[in-house]
Amino acid sequence: MSARIRLYNTLSRTIEPLETRESGKIGLYVCGMTVYDYCHIGHARAMMAFDFVVRHLRQRGYDVTFVRNHTDVDDKIIARAKERGLDPLALSATFVHALEEDLAALGILPPTRAPRVSEHIPDILELIARLIAKGNAYRADNGDVYFAVESYPAYGHLSGKKLDDLRAGERVAVDSAKRNPADFALWKAATGDPAEPTWDSPWGRGRPGWHIECSAMARHYLGDTFDIHGGGIDLVFPHHENEIAQSECGTGHGPYARYWMHNGHLTLPRPDEDGADDEKMSKSLGNVIRIRDILQEVPAEALRLYFAETQYRSPLPYAADGLVRALGALDRIYSAKETALEVARATPTPVAELGDPAKELYALAIGFPAAFNDAMDDDFNTAQALAALFELVRAVNRFGNDKKARTKGALAMVPVIAAFDLAANVLGIAAMEPQAFFDEVKQKRLAAAGKSLADIEARILARTAARAAKDWAEADRLRAEFDAEGIVVMDNPTGCSWRMRIE
Ligand SMILES: [Zn+2]
Repeated sequence: MSARIRLYNTLSRTIEPLETRESGKIGLYVCGMTVYDYCHIGHARAMMAFDFVVRHLRQRGYDVTFVRNHTDVDDKIIARAKERGLDPLALSATFVHALEEDLAALGILPPTRAPRVSEHIPDILELIARLIAKGNAYRADNGDVYFAVESYPAYGHLSGKKLDDLRAGERVAVDSAKRNPADFALWKAATGDPAEPTWDSPWGRGRPGWHIECSAMARHYLGDTFDIHGGGIDLVFPHHENEIAQSECGTGHGPYARYWMHNGHLTLPRPDEDGADDEKMSKSLGNVIRIRDILQEVPAEALRLYFAETQYRSPLPYAADGLVRALGALDRIYSAKETALEVARATPTPVAELGDPAKELYALAIGFPAAFNDAMDDDFNTAQALAALFELVRAVNRFGNDKKARTKGALAMVPVIAAFDLAANVLGIAAMEPQAFFDEVKQKRLAAAGKSLADIEARILARTAARAAKDWAEADRLRAEFDAEGIVVMDNPTGCSWRMRIE
């Protein structure tokens, strides 16, 4: 088992070697989403961060049990359901389904378990009962059950916050039912609103507070202590702080999680104040928010590559031109993969008999798994792993320019293709057949530009006919017309092909 993986642990604020509780096994819990609408690309970044983590851990041989919850009981869900005259659990079930579709379209592997709060009320009740029995929680006069933060001396050790500072920061008498303003709700008494989903409990009818669900579900699937807990950086306080307090007090075991991983946020640009550019921006990827909208315009792997260019802990200000640049970079990767697959069918000749570009490429490809894994082992540094991939892509291009090597280089391609497979397995990049990728780009870029495939094919045929009739003026006019539309026409002996320019 590889013991080389190192990761930043928010708990210790240092990079630590990964040492799992059980050799070769990892229990990973990641806070999922509160589901009341379609997911946007900020969610995609968070989900992708842990997709890279899970894929790499599995590729390194770990048996990963990956749990990611759906919060389907929440104030925002109830409010949205009331607006629409729907049952809150039905509304959230609809959006859980939409979320699963979006994540599948992004190539994000499904978790081992994806529990919903509404399915785990007995686990939640049991944990709350333990906390009350141990003196860590109390039922207040208003019928709510609160966790008493003062009963847990270590409260604040994840976020570095101190209880005294928290209390000083609270406004006076925010909630008089609490003993300490920092106490948080484990169980909320039913408000009497018929739209609110509620359950019976020993403390009266009500519903769980937000934080308790993750403690209860993590315990149900991963046990009292497990290896890694993840989520967005905004969850460190209070959500994760509260999870630790509830779990360590409730189970009597610690640590709740050995490592805490937090992803940085994707920030979205705001529309211009005058709103003048809004429509244009939404069409040109500038201000698209939903995952499913962006996937109409670019293949999923463009988004994967765009996210992988920044290591998961860093904040990422979203920029549409960055996504288009990522698509261009992906196009270069697929061109190289296409070359490698083509040369793999050529004559097998010992690499030593080929020229320098082939020898260099071969050596680089042999060393690729080590370079790639070193980067990923180093706190899942996808940016560095991509750098290794681009070095390989450039070497494939140099090799591809050597016409003699192209006809004889099949043996040199063996490690090159293995390298592309490794990147596909861990980053989910270059996982497609090149032609399928080029076709998808063509179709999506045309649709995004509001162009018709039939119209372009008809004009390509007209140009081919003009060339056959030696009407060079007409052929050149059509080429210029295509060029102005961002379509690159490539003449070859049997006719011509075309593709969308990525810019
Ligand atoms: Zn959580």
